[in-house]
Amino acid sequence: MVMSLSNRTKRQIFEPGAIIMRQGDIGENAYLIEEGQVEIFVENNGKEQILGHRGAGAIVGEMAIVDNKVRTANVRALAPSTLLAISREDFGRRLAHADPVMKMVMQVILARYRAVLHGTEAAQLSAEEAEKEGNISEKAFETIRMTHDFREAILGYQLRLHYQPIVNLLTGKVVGFEALMRWHHPVKGMISPAVFIPLAEDSGLIVHASRWALREGVYMMNRLKAEHGLAEPWFISLNFTGLDLAAEDFADNVAEALQGTGVHPSRIKLEITERMLIDDPEGAISTLKRCRDAGLTVALDDFGTGYSSLSYLHRFPIDTMKIDRSFVVEMTTSAASLTLVKTIISLAKGLGMSVVAEGVEKQEEADILRDNGCEMVQGFLFARPMAEPDLVLWLNDYKSSNNTISKP
Ligand code: C2E
Ligand code: CA
Ligand code: CA
Repeated sequence: MVMSLSNRTKRQIFEPGAIIMRQGDIGENAYLIEEGQVEIFVENNGKEQILGHRGAGAIVGEMAIVDNKVRTANVRALAPSTLLAISREDFGRRLAHADPVMKMVMQVILARYRAVLHGTEAAQLSAEEAEKEGNISEKAFETIRMTHDFREAILGYQLRLHYQPIVNLLTGKVVGFEALMRWHHPVKGMISPAVFIPLAEDSGLIVHASRWALREGVYMMNRLKAEHGLAEPWFISLNFTGLDLAAEDFADNVAEALQGTGVHPSRIKLEITERMLIDDPEGAISTLKRCRDAGLTVALDDFGTGYSSLSYLHRFPIDTMKIDRSFVVEMTTSAASLTLVKTIISLAKGLGMSVVAEGVEKQEEADILRDNGCEMVQGFLFARPMAEPDLVLWLNDYKSSNNTISKP
């Protein structure tokens, strides 16, 4: 049922003695008490039993908006009271976006709470609830299971990095690589980062995975030189999330990872997203500045998707802007996308940044980008992300064609 706007937004004022909700009624709203004082009571054999009092800032009637059960108590105003309704519909919409584990735990707590109120067997009631909420529970179980599996993946060496070359369009030379994480799950096989990175962020495990990736990426650069004689001063781009950057010791940890490896800090590029800059601008600025002072460079990933705000760009210490694949894909068929790409390139250049275009699959796209001053690209046209042995083969091929990309 869709409640009318006027009902939903209305402040309701109750005079002393007025009944706000009745035991046994179906409740459509919980109420936040903005002002006043209310009394919660139940009726037993015609006698009132007071359960408690609530004042400004408290919530009453919250159970009914979580499940569809009837009110378990009465609420009466003791003083003139102003109440703000939280409708079941609003709450349901918020709940639909909530983390499945949060949802499941909340359902169980509520079921147990009701069981205590009614004196029913708690275990029995929560089993019923669990069955009713079957879909939610299954999703929650899967999230919890996968989070445990991911923890084991970090400890059990199931994570890998694949490397995608980044090419300078003007010289035809490889300038660096982006490191992209892969998870080889022992049962489920290869899992996409689009699936496990959000899971790793929600659980906070991303911080450990990112630290592993940083070290692994640096070791790989060393191995290219020490074991394979591939000694160009390529950079390596690594992806980080807001949680990584928020760690107090982020900059120190990066410096530590580089210590004694012979890899110069200027060869490490930190890829961050616009979202991280919006969420905590001051924190991000200070962390990125420290990293840059230590010699690292910073790339703004997926530029143009979602959170772009031109007003912040010049405030952040950014060296490279990465044009999102979605613009590159549409550039050849949509005049508007082409205009956007051109604008992003000149914006980046105007701010003194270099530009990398992502997801270049066609020669035509590479030509347009080069003609418009975009010097660096990455995409399947040149190479897919590769495991280290394949990268070594690819680089040897590249070396034998005189350090230029022979095809395309
Ligand atoms: P991203 O950072 O934007 O990475 C580029 C994605 O585009 C990669 O997907 C890459 O394989 C794909 N790609 C590159 N060239 C082409 C192309 O020509 N065509 C097409 N269709 N795709 C292309 P991947 O490896 O699946 O990674 C997806 C996302 O997962 C990444 O997007 C990044 O947001 C996240 N991710 C991957 N590795 C890490 C990591 O180590 N840490 C963090 N925090 N996130 C990561
Ligand atoms: Ca990236
Ligand atoms: Ca990207």
